Amino acid sequence: MTSGGSTYESKIESRNADYGIATESVEFRASPHRKVSTLNVSKRGIASNTAVHELLECPVCMNVMYPPIHQCPNGHTLCSKCQSKVRCCPICRHELGNIRCLALERVAESLELPCRYQILACQDIFPYHGRLRHEQNCRFRPYNCPYAGAECPVTGDIPFLVAHLKSDHKVDMHDGCTFNHRYVKSNPQDVENATWMLTVFNCYGYQFCLHFEAFNLGTAPVYMAFIRFMGDDHDARKFSYSLEVGGNGRKMTWQGIPRSIRDGHIKVRDSMDGLIIQRSMALFFSGGNRQELKLKVAGRIWKEQA
Ligand SMILES: [Zn+2]
Ligand SMILES: [Zn+2]
Ligand SMILES: [Zn+2]
Ligand SMILES: [Zn+2]
Repeated sequence: MTSGGSTYESKIESRNADYGIATESVEFRASPHRKVSTLNVSKRGIASNTAVHELLECPVCMNVMYPPIHQCPNGHTLCSKCQSKVRCCPICRHELGNIRCLALERVAESLELPCRYQILACQDIFPYHGRLRHEQNCRFRPYNCPYAGAECPVTGDIPFLVAHLKSDHKVDMHDGCTFNHRYVKSNPQDVENATWMLTVFNCYGYQFCLHFEAFNLGTAPVYMAFIRFMGDDHDARKFSYSLEVGGNGRKMTWQGIPRSIRDGHIKVRDSMDGLIIQRSMALFFSGGNRQELKLKVAGRIWKEQA
């Protein structure tokens, strides 16, 4: 796990010596099609690293190829995922068969490459397999949209997702660390069509998502409220929150730690890490004739002393 330019460049130089031949031909191959940004002589090592990286790019899916790497009888390479989907070589149309490209696999395994989230500020450089593992947990990897209703495919960093929630999902945004929220449903029997709601709170310079959902826990309809933190787990654990729901002379409280939005809302829900209200209890809180759900949820978010 090296970071910092000097280590990086010295590594590249020694690699250059090892792969001198490959470097030449790869540069030739890459130049007509791609911008390897003008080859700066002092950065030559980095440029050829980019070229080797391109050599490892699957021509079908454009992802980096990890072993096993396959090739057609004419030597055109492709990744194992794409190999399993096509019968003919996508370049020359020759029947593929099951030929591995061991030389390229060895190049792949010996390379150290920057994290794919380098453009998002990750400075780390990894050997091939370690890199894949790192990328799955890289703290710079984009977040999924925390909106739970439809499987929203949008990903991005936190400022981007906050803007996305506001403009595309019309999510309510509030400033402050305390809140009072009302949930009213005219047909509390209908769990399927009810309810999941999202409100976002800005406090301590971060955003917190208050989720409110109705679902069947086994056969019992329940309501659940919980808070997720728009950021990493490490920062999420610096906060606590409480939720209180009551009415009609009854009251329930929950205290918890916000969960990072790295954890999907289904995962949080299924782990029951939040305030869970049985429907009968919810109707008690609602008062009246049990024909309408009227819940008042009060909450507070605070920072734990480090
Ligand atoms: Zn592929
Ligand atoms: Zn071919
Ligand atoms: Zn990374
Ligand atoms: Zn979204």
